[in-house]
Amino acid sequence: MRTAVVVGAGIGGLAVAGALARSGWRVTVLEREDRVRAERTALILWPNAVRALDALGLAAGLDAIATPLPDSGVRRPDGQWLVQPRGTSGRGPVIVHREDLYDALVAGLGDQVEIRTGVTVRGVRATERERPSVGDGRTTYEGDLVVAADGIDSAVRRRLAPESTVVSSGCAAWRAVIPWYRVPPLNEGRPVVGETLGAGYRFVAAQLGQRGSSGASTRGGVYWVATAAGAPRPEPPATQLALLRRWFAQWHPPIGDLLAATEPDDLVQQEVRELRPLPREYGFPAGPGGFALLGDAAHAMPHHLGQGACLALEDAATLGSVLREAVPGRPTQEAIAAYSRLRRPRAATVVRQTRRMSAVLQARGRLALRARDAALGTISPRLMGSAATAAAAWKPPV
Ligand SMILES: Cc1cc2nc3c(=O)[nH]c(=O)nc-3n(C[C@H](O)[C@H](O)[C@H](O)COP(=O)(O)OP(=O)(O)OC[C@H]3O[C@@H](n4cnc5c(N)ncnc54)[C@H](O)[C@@H]3O)c2cc1C
Repeated sequence: MRTAVVVGAGIGGLAVAGALARSGWRVTVLEREDRVRAERTALILWPNAVRALDALGLAAGLDAIATPLPDSGVRRPDGQWLVQPRGTSGRGPVIVHREDLYDALVAGLGDQVEIRTGVTVRGVRATERERPSVGDGRTTYEGDLVVAADGIDSAVRRRLAPESTVVSSGCAAWRAVIPWYRVPPLNEGRPVVGETLGAGYRFVAAQLGQRGSSGASTRGGVYWVATAAGAPRPEPPATQLALLRRWFAQWHPPIGDLLAATEPDDLVQQEVRELRPLPREYGFPAGPGGFALLGDAAHAMPHHLGQGACLALEDAATLGSVLREAVPGRPTQEAIAAYSRLRRPRAATVVRQTRRMSAVLQARGRLALRARDAALGTISPRLMGSAATAAAAWKPPV
Protein backbone atom coordinates (compact mmCIF):
# COMPACT_ATOMS: atom_id res chain seq x y z
CA MET A 1 0.00 0.00 0.00
CA ARG A 2 1.21 3.53 -0.81
CA THR A 3 2.13 5.40 2.35
CA ALA A 4 2.31 9.10 3.16
CA VAL A 5 3.38 11.10 6.19
CA VAL A 6 1.73 14.50 6.60
CA VAL A 7 3.43 16.90 9.01
CA GLY A 8 0.89 19.28 10.59
CA ALA A 9 -2.83 18.92 11.23
CA GLY A 10 -3.89 22.41 10.15
CA ILE A 11 -6.36 23.11 7.35
CA GLY A 12 -3.81 22.12 4.68
CA GLY A 13 -2.62 18.95 6.41
CA LEU A 14 -6.13 17.68 7.21
CA ALA A 15 -7.37 18.43 3.70
CA VAL A 16 -4.50 16.62 1.96
CA ALA A 17 -4.58 13.67 4.37
CA GLY A 18 -8.24 13.10 3.51
CA ALA A 19 -7.60 13.49 -0.23
CA LEU A 20 -4.78 10.93 -0.22
CA ALA A 21 -6.70 8.47 1.96
CA ARG A 22 -9.70 8.63 -0.37
CA SER A 23 -7.51 7.47 -3.25
CA GLY A 24 -6.07 4.54 -1.30
CA TRP A 25 -2.99 5.96 0.45
CA ARG A 26 -2.34 5.00 4.05
CA VAL A 27 -1.63 8.29 5.81
CA THR A 28 0.00 9.18 9.12
CA VAL A 29 -0.51 12.77 10.30
CA LEU A 30 2.02 14.14 12.81
CA GLU A 31 0.88 17.08 14.94
CA ARG A 32 2.94 18.77 17.62
CA GLU A 33 -0.05 19.91 19.71
CA ASP A 34 -1.67 17.49 22.14
CA ARG A 35 -4.84 17.50 20.03
CA VAL A 36 -6.12 18.69 16.67
CA ARG A 37 -7.39 22.13 17.43
CA ALA A 38 -8.55 25.16 15.44
CA GLU A 39 -8.32 28.78 16.56
CA ARG A 40 -11.62 30.19 17.85
CA THR A 41 -11.84 32.58 14.90
CA ALA A 42 -13.36 32.54 11.44
CA LEU A 43 -12.16 32.41 7.87
CA ILE A 44 -13.26 33.83 4.53
CA LEU A 45 -13.35 31.22 1.80
CA TRP A 46 -13.25 32.63 -1.72
CA PRO A 47 -14.82 30.71 -4.62
CA ASN A 48 -11.47 29.08 -5.43
CA ALA A 49 -11.51 27.45 -1.96
CA VAL A 50 -15.11 26.36 -2.43
CA ARG A 51 -14.09 24.77 -5.74
CA ALA A 52 -11.13 23.09 -4.03
CA LEU A 53 -13.44 21.71 -1.33
CA ASP A 54 -15.71 20.48 -4.09
CA ALA A 55 -12.76 18.70 -5.77
CA LEU A 56 -11.88 17.22 -2.37
CA GLY A 57 -15.41 15.84 -2.11
CA LEU A 58 -16.20 18.05 0.90
CA ALA A 59 -18.45 20.75 -0.58
CA ALA A 60 -21.67 19.05 0.55
CA GLY A 61 -20.91 19.77 4.21
CA LEU A 62 -19.99 23.39 3.49
CA ASP A 63 -23.53 24.74 3.09
CA ALA A 64 -24.30 23.65 6.65
CA ILE A 65 -21.50 25.74 8.15
CA ALA A 66 -20.98 28.66 5.73
CA THR A 67 -22.58 32.10 5.58
CA PRO A 68 -22.48 34.01 2.26
CA LEU A 69 -20.47 37.22 2.50
CA PRO A 70 -22.10 40.08 0.58
CA ASP A 71 -19.89 42.65 -1.15
CA SER A 72 -19.94 45.48 1.35
CA GLY A 73 -17.51 47.93 -0.28
CA VAL A 74 -14.76 49.80 1.56
CA ARG A 75 -15.21 52.83 3.80
CA ARG A 76 -13.03 55.46 5.43
CA PRO A 77 -13.07 55.75 9.22
CA ASP A 78 -15.65 58.58 8.98
CA GLY A 79 -17.97 56.24 7.06
CA GLN A 80 -17.46 57.81 3.58
CA TRP A 81 -17.24 55.30 0.79
CA LEU A 82 -13.83 54.61 -0.70
CA VAL A 83 -15.31 51.86 -2.82
CA GLN A 84 -19.09 51.50 -3.22
CA PRO A 85 -20.48 48.00 -2.83
CA ARG A 86 -20.87 46.33 -6.19
CA GLY A 87 -23.58 43.80 -6.79
CA THR A 88 -22.15 40.32 -6.53
CA SER A 89 -22.45 38.26 -9.65
CA GLY A 90 -22.42 34.53 -9.30
CA ARG A 91 -21.16 32.73 -6.23
CA GLY A 92 -19.22 35.05 -3.92
CA PRO A 93 -17.09 34.34 -0.86
CA VAL A 94 -18.43 32.67 2.27
CA ILE A 95 -17.40 32.85 5.89
CA VAL A 96 -16.97 29.84 8.18
CA HIS A 97 -15.95 29.33 11.78
CA ARG A 98 -12.53 27.64 11.79
CA GLU A 99 -13.69 25.04 14.30
CA ASP A 100 -16.57 24.10 11.98
CA LEU A 101 -14.17 23.78 9.03
CA TYR A 102 -11.80 21.56 11.08
CA ASP A 103 -14.75 19.37 12.09
CA ALA A 104 -15.70 18.97 8.41
CA LEU A 105 -12.11 18.14 7.42
CA VAL A 106 -11.68 15.62 10.27
CA ALA A 107 -15.02 14.00 9.36
CA GLY A 108 -13.64 13.56 5.83
CA LEU A 109 -10.54 11.64 6.94
CA GLY A 110 -12.04 8.15 6.91
CA ASP A 111 -10.27 5.21 8.55
CA GLN A 112 -7.02 5.12 6.52
CA VAL A 113 -5.61 8.11 8.43
CA GLU A 114 -3.81 7.81 11.73
CA ILE A 115 -3.26 11.05 13.64
CA ARG A 116 -0.35 11.14 16.09
CA THR A 117 -0.46 14.16 18.35
CA GLY A 118 2.35 15.44 20.57
CA VAL A 119 4.93 14.75 17.84
CA THR A 120 7.16 17.72 16.96
CA VAL A 121 9.08 17.04 13.78
CA ARG A 122 12.68 18.25 13.98
CA GLY A 123 14.69 16.03 11.65
CA VAL A 124 14.33 15.45 7.91
CA ARG A 125 15.97 12.71 5.83
CA ALA A 126 16.03 13.52 2.12
CA THR A 127 18.40 11.31 0.12
CA GLU A 128 18.32 9.78 -3.32
CA ARG A 129 18.31 6.16 -2.15
CA GLU A 130 16.21 6.10 1.03
CA ARG A 131 12.49 6.62 1.49
CA PRO A 132 11.77 10.19 2.60
CA SER A 133 11.33 10.50 6.36
CA VAL A 134 10.96 12.88 9.26
CA GLY A 135 11.55 12.37 12.95
CA ASP A 136 11.08 13.93 16.35
CA GLY A 137 14.39 12.70 17.79
CA ARG A 138 12.84 9.51 19.16
CA THR A 139 10.89 8.00 16.28
CA THR A 140 11.43 8.10 12.52
CA TYR A 141 8.36 8.24 10.28
CA GLU A 142 8.90 7.27 6.65
CA GLY A 143 6.68 6.87 3.63
CA ASP A 144 6.68 7.07 -0.15
CA LEU A 145 5.64 10.69 0.27
CA VAL A 146 6.12 13.28 3.02
CA VAL A 147 3.91 16.37 2.91
CA ALA A 148 5.15 19.42 4.83
CA ALA A 149 1.96 21.11 6.03
CA ASP A 150 3.57 22.41 9.22
CA GLY A 151 2.80 26.08 8.74
CA ILE A 152 4.92 29.20 8.34
CA ASP A 153 7.74 28.03 10.65
CA SER A 154 7.93 24.66 8.86
CA ALA A 155 10.91 22.59 10.06
CA VAL A 156 10.72 20.57 6.82
CA ARG A 157 10.88 23.66 4.58
CA ARG A 158 13.83 25.06 6.55
CA ARG A 159 15.77 21.91 5.62
CA LEU A 160 14.62 21.61 1.98
CA ALA A 161 14.31 25.26 0.94
CA PRO A 162 16.66 27.23 3.21
CA GLU A 163 16.60 30.15 0.75
CA SER A 164 13.11 31.02 1.99
CA THR A 165 12.95 32.89 5.29
CA VAL A 166 10.17 34.18 7.54
CA VAL A 167 9.96 37.97 7.84
CA SER A 168 7.57 40.39 9.52
CA SER A 169 4.97 42.02 7.25
CA GLY A 170 5.10 45.15 9.40
CA CYS A 171 1.72 44.77 11.05
CA ALA A 172 -0.16 42.88 13.74
CA ALA A 173 -3.70 41.49 13.63
CA TRP A 174 -6.39 40.91 16.23
CA ARG A 175 -9.40 38.69 15.64
CA ALA A 176 -12.48 37.73 17.62
CA VAL A 177 -15.84 36.05 17.25
CA ILE A 178 -18.44 37.70 19.49
CA PRO A 179 -21.15 35.10 20.20
CA TRP A 180 -24.66 36.22 19.28
CA TYR A 181 -25.87 36.41 22.88
CA ARG A 182 -23.32 39.18 23.49
CA VAL A 183 -23.75 41.06 20.19
CA PRO A 184 -25.67 44.29 20.94
CA PRO A 185 -28.50 45.41 18.62
CA LEU A 186 -26.60 46.92 15.69
CA ASN A 187 -27.45 48.87 12.59
CA GLU A 188 -31.20 48.44 13.09
CA GLY A 189 -31.07 44.83 12.03
CA ARG A 190 -29.00 45.40 8.89
CA PRO A 191 -26.15 42.97 8.36
CA VAL A 192 -22.91 43.85 10.13
CA VAL A 193 -20.42 43.49 7.35
CA GLY A 194 -17.78 45.71 5.91
CA GLU A 195 -14.24 46.82 5.51
CA THR A 196 -12.85 50.15 6.72
CA LEU A 197 -9.42 51.57 5.94
CA GLY A 198 -7.60 54.27 7.93
CA ALA A 199 -3.98 55.40 8.13
CA GLY A 200 -2.15 52.20 8.99
CA TYR A 201 -5.32 50.59 10.37
CA ARG A 202 -8.00 48.32 8.91
CA PHE A 203 -11.16 46.83 10.39
CA VAL A 204 -13.26 44.10 8.78
CA ALA A 205 -16.45 42.68 10.27
CA ALA A 206 -18.76 39.94 9.08
CA GLN A 207 -21.74 37.96 10.32
CA LEU A 208 -21.45 34.24 10.99
CA GLY A 209 -25.00 33.00 10.57
CA GLN A 210 -28.08 34.95 11.72
CA ARG A 211 -29.00 36.02 15.22
CA GLY A 212 -31.60 33.72 16.71
CA SER A 213 -31.52 31.15 13.91
CA SER A 214 -30.07 27.70 14.28
CA GLY A 215 -28.43 29.03 11.15
CA ALA A 216 -25.47 28.30 9.00
CA SER A 217 -22.73 28.11 11.63
CA THR A 218 -23.18 26.26 14.87
CA ARG A 219 -20.76 28.77 16.36
CA GLY A 220 -22.40 31.95 15.08
CA GLY A 221 -21.88 35.58 15.97
CA VAL A 222 -19.97 38.54 14.62
CA TYR A 223 -16.39 38.01 13.44
CA TRP A 224 -14.01 40.92 13.20
CA VAL A 225 -10.36 41.39 12.23
CA ALA A 226 -8.41 44.52 13.11
CA THR A 227 -5.01 45.14 11.54
CA ALA A 228 -2.57 47.81 12.71
CA ALA A 229 0.85 48.76 11.38
CA GLY A 230 3.61 47.97 13.86
CA ALA A 231 4.59 45.12 16.14
CA PRO A 232 2.25 42.95 18.23
CA ARG A 233 1.59 44.20 21.75
CA PRO A 234 3.29 42.54 24.70
CA GLU A 235 0.56 43.57 27.19
CA PRO A 236 -2.15 41.18 28.47
CA PRO A 237 -5.34 40.81 26.36
CA ALA A 238 -7.38 43.24 28.50
CA THR A 239 -4.84 45.99 27.81
CA GLN A 240 -4.68 45.09 24.12
CA LEU A 241 -8.46 45.39 23.96
CA ALA A 242 -8.32 48.79 25.67
CA LEU A 243 -5.77 49.89 23.05
CA LEU A 244 -7.95 48.65 20.18
CA ARG A 245 -10.95 50.55 21.60
CA ARG A 246 -8.81 53.69 21.73
CA TRP A 247 -7.33 53.28 18.22
CA PHE A 248 -10.76 52.74 16.65
CA ALA A 249 -12.69 55.12 18.95
CA GLN A 250 -13.55 57.69 16.25
CA TRP A 251 -14.39 55.12 13.57
CA HIS A 252 -17.92 54.85 12.16
CA PRO A 253 -20.56 52.63 13.82
CA PRO A 254 -20.79 49.79 14.65
CA ILE A 255 -17.02 49.38 15.12
CA GLY A 256 -17.00 50.88 18.63
CA ASP A 257 -20.03 48.77 19.64
CA LEU A 258 -18.34 45.61 18.41
CA LEU A 259 -15.16 46.34 20.34
CA ALA A 260 -17.23 47.17 23.43
CA ALA A 261 -18.99 43.80 23.16
CA THR A 262 -15.68 41.93 22.81
CA GLU A 263 -14.15 40.34 25.90
CA PRO A 264 -10.39 39.83 26.44
CA ASP A 265 -10.81 36.04 26.20
CA ASP A 266 -12.26 36.43 22.67
CA LEU A 267 -9.07 38.11 21.38
CA VAL A 268 -6.53 36.30 19.21
CA GLN A 269 -3.48 38.45 18.53
CA GLN A 270 -0.94 37.56 15.86
CA GLU A 271 2.16 39.10 14.34
CA VAL A 272 1.60 39.14 10.57
CA ARG A 273 4.50 37.39 8.83
CA GLU A 274 5.33 36.08 5.38
CA LEU A 275 7.89 34.04 3.44
CA ARG A 276 10.52 35.94 1.44
CA PRO A 277 11.43 34.75 -1.08
CA LEU A 278 9.04 31.91 -1.77
CA PRO A 279 10.76 28.51 -1.99
CA ARG A 280 12.10 27.87 -5.50
CA GLU A 281 10.34 24.50 -5.65
CA TYR A 282 7.38 22.90 -3.90
CA GLY A 283 8.47 19.32 -4.68
CA PHE A 284 11.71 17.47 -3.81
CA PRO A 285 12.46 13.92 -5.00
CA ALA A 286 13.75 11.39 -2.46
CA GLY A 287 13.91 7.59 -2.72
CA PRO A 288 10.81 6.19 -4.46
CA GLY A 289 8.87 9.43 -3.99
CA GLY A 290 9.70 12.64 -2.21
CA PHE A 291 8.54 15.69 -0.29
CA ALA A 292 5.87 18.28 -1.10
CA LEU A 293 5.46 21.69 0.57
CA LEU A 294 1.86 22.76 1.13
CA GLY A 295 -0.11 25.64 2.69
CA ASP A 296 1.68 28.25 4.80
CA ALA A 297 4.80 26.05 4.78
CA ALA A 298 5.00 26.80 1.05
CA HIS A 299 3.60 30.33 0.69
CA ALA A 300 2.70 32.10 3.95
CA MET A 301 1.50 35.62 3.13
CA PRO A 302 -0.26 38.49 4.93
CA HIS A 303 -4.03 38.02 5.36
CA HIS A 304 -5.04 41.13 3.37
CA LEU A 305 -6.68 39.17 0.53
CA GLY A 306 -7.86 36.32 2.77
CA GLN A 307 -6.26 33.73 0.49
CA GLY A 308 -3.82 31.76 2.73
CA ALA A 309 -6.13 28.92 3.69
CA CYS A 310 -7.84 29.06 0.29
CA LEU A 311 -4.49 28.33 -1.37
CA ALA A 312 -3.81 25.54 1.15
CA LEU A 313 -7.08 23.89 0.03
CA GLU A 314 -6.09 24.37 -3.64
CA ASP A 315 -2.71 22.74 -2.86
CA ALA A 316 -4.44 19.78 -1.20
CA ALA A 317 -6.86 19.29 -4.08
CA THR A 318 -3.99 19.50 -6.61
CA LEU A 319 -1.65 17.14 -4.76
CA GLY A 320 -4.49 14.67 -4.20
CA SER A 321 -5.32 14.80 -7.90
CA VAL A 322 -1.78 14.33 -9.32
CA LEU A 323 -1.06 11.47 -6.90
CA ARG A 324 -4.39 9.69 -7.32
CA GLU A 325 -3.04 6.95 -9.59
CA ALA A 326 0.70 7.33 -8.89
CA VAL A 327 2.62 4.27 -7.69
CA PRO A 328 5.95 4.56 -5.83
CA GLY A 329 8.95 5.16 -8.08
CA ARG A 330 9.11 7.39 -11.12
CA PRO A 331 5.31 8.03 -11.32
CA THR A 332 5.24 9.42 -7.77
CA GLN A 333 8.34 11.53 -8.41
CA GLU A 334 6.79 12.89 -11.60
CA ALA A 335 3.53 13.63 -9.80
CA ILE A 336 5.41 15.60 -7.12
CA ALA A 337 7.27 17.55 -9.85
CA ALA A 338 3.95 18.26 -11.59
CA TYR A 339 2.49 19.53 -8.29
CA SER A 340 5.40 21.96 -7.96
CA ARG A 341 4.97 23.17 -11.55
CA LEU A 342 1.24 23.75 -11.02
CA ARG A 343 1.40 25.37 -7.60
CA ARG A 344 4.55 27.52 -7.53
CA PRO A 345 3.43 30.08 -10.20
CA ARG A 346 -0.11 30.18 -8.79
CA ALA A 347 1.14 30.99 -5.28
CA ALA A 348 3.58 33.59 -6.67
CA THR A 349 0.70 35.39 -8.44
CA VAL A 350 -1.46 35.59 -5.32
CA VAL A 351 1.52 36.69 -3.19
CA ARG A 352 2.23 39.50 -5.69
CA GLN A 353 -1.38 40.71 -5.44
CA THR A 354 -1.24 40.51 -1.67
CA ARG A 355 1.91 42.65 -1.58
CA ARG A 356 0.19 45.35 -3.64
CA MET A 357 -2.66 45.32 -1.13
CA SER A 358 -0.14 45.53 1.75
CA ALA A 359 1.26 48.74 0.28
CA VAL A 360 -2.24 50.25 0.00
CA LEU A 361 -3.26 49.16 3.49
CA GLN A 362 -0.14 50.45 5.12
CA ALA A 363 -0.16 53.88 3.44
CA ARG A 364 0.56 56.48 6.12
CA GLY A 365 1.00 60.23 5.98
CA ARG A 366 -1.31 62.76 4.27
CA LEU A 367 0.14 62.47 0.77
CA ALA A 368 0.29 58.70 0.84
CA LEU A 369 -3.29 58.58 2.14
CA ARG A 370 -4.55 60.94 -0.55
CA ALA A 371 -2.79 58.86 -3.19
CA ARG A 372 -4.28 55.72 -1.68
CA ASP A 373 -7.82 57.13 -1.61
CA ALA A 374 -7.46 58.28 -5.21
CA ALA A 375 -6.08 54.91 -6.21
CA LEU A 376 -8.89 53.10 -4.45
CA GLY A 377 -11.43 55.41 -6.05
CA THR A 378 -10.17 54.94 -9.60
CA ILE A 379 -8.55 51.54 -9.86
CA SER A 380 -10.65 50.11 -7.06
CA PRO A 381 -12.64 47.61 -9.07
CA ARG A 382 -9.39 46.20 -10.43
CA LEU A 383 -7.51 46.28 -7.12
CA MET A 384 -10.27 45.26 -4.78
CA GLY A 385 -11.47 42.69 -7.24
CA SER A 386 -8.05 41.11 -7.42
CA ALA A 387 -8.96 38.46 -4.87
CA ALA A 388 -12.06 37.61 -6.83
CA THR A 389 -10.04 37.56 -10.04
CA ALA A 390 -7.42 35.32 -8.48
CA ALA A 391 -10.24 33.16 -7.25
CA ALA A 392 -11.93 32.92 -10.62
CA ALA A 393 -8.63 32.07 -12.30
CA TRP A 394 -8.22 28.74 -10.54
CA LYS A 395 -9.79 25.46 -11.48
CA PRO A 396 -8.92 22.11 -9.89
CA PRO A 397 -6.93 19.76 -12.14
CA VAL A 398 -9.00 16.86 -13.44
C1 LIG B 1 -5.26 37.57 10.87
C2 LIG B 1 -5.36 36.49 9.84
C3 LIG B 1 -6.53 36.34 9.11
C4 LIG B 1 -6.62 35.36 8.12
N1 LIG B 1 -7.76 35.26 7.39
C5 LIG B 1 -7.82 34.37 6.38
C6 LIG B 1 -9.00 34.26 5.58
O1 LIG B 1 -10.00 34.96 5.82
N2 LIG B 1 -9.01 33.37 4.54
C7 LIG B 1 -7.92 32.58 4.27
O2 LIG B 1 -7.98 31.78 3.31
N3 LIG B 1 -6.80 32.63 5.03
C8 LIG B 1 -6.73 33.51 6.07
N4 LIG B 1 -5.61 33.56 6.84
C9 LIG B 1 -4.48 32.65 6.53
C10 LIG B 1 -4.73 31.25 7.11
O3 LIG B 1 -4.99 31.34 8.49
C11 LIG B 1 -3.51 30.36 6.88
O4 LIG B 1 -3.03 30.51 5.57
C12 LIG B 1 -3.88 28.90 7.09
O5 LIG B 1 -4.39 28.69 8.38
C13 LIG B 1 -2.64 28.01 6.87
O6 LIG B 1 -2.99 26.66 7.10
P1 LIG B 1 -1.85 25.56 7.16
O7 LIG B 1 -2.57 24.27 7.40
O8 LIG B 1 -0.97 25.67 5.98
O9 LIG B 1 -0.93 25.95 8.40
P2 LIG B 1 -1.28 26.06 9.95
O10 LIG B 1 -2.69 26.43 10.17
O11 LIG B 1 -0.21 26.91 10.55
O12 LIG B 1 -1.11 24.57 10.49
C14 LIG B 1 0.16 24.00 10.71
C15 LIG B 1 0.01 22.84 11.68
O13 LIG B 1 1.28 22.20 11.82
C16 LIG B 1 1.59 22.02 13.18
N5 LIG B 1 3.05 22.02 13.28
C17 LIG B 1 3.88 23.08 13.12
N6 LIG B 1 5.16 22.71 13.25
C18 LIG B 1 5.15 21.38 13.47
C19 LIG B 1 6.18 20.42 13.67
N7 LIG B 1 7.47 20.76 13.63
N8 LIG B 1 5.82 19.12 13.89
C20 LIG B 1 4.51 18.76 13.91
N9 LIG B 1 3.49 19.63 13.72
C21 LIG B 1 3.82 20.93 13.50
C22 LIG B 1 0.91 23.18 13.88
O14 LIG B 1 0.69 22.92 15.24
C23 LIG B 1 -0.40 23.29 13.08
O15 LIG B 1 -1.39 22.43 13.58
C24 LIG B 1 -5.51 34.52 7.86
C25 LIG B 1 -4.34 34.64 8.62
C26 LIG B 1 -4.27 35.62 9.59
C27 LIG B 1 -3.00 35.75 10.40
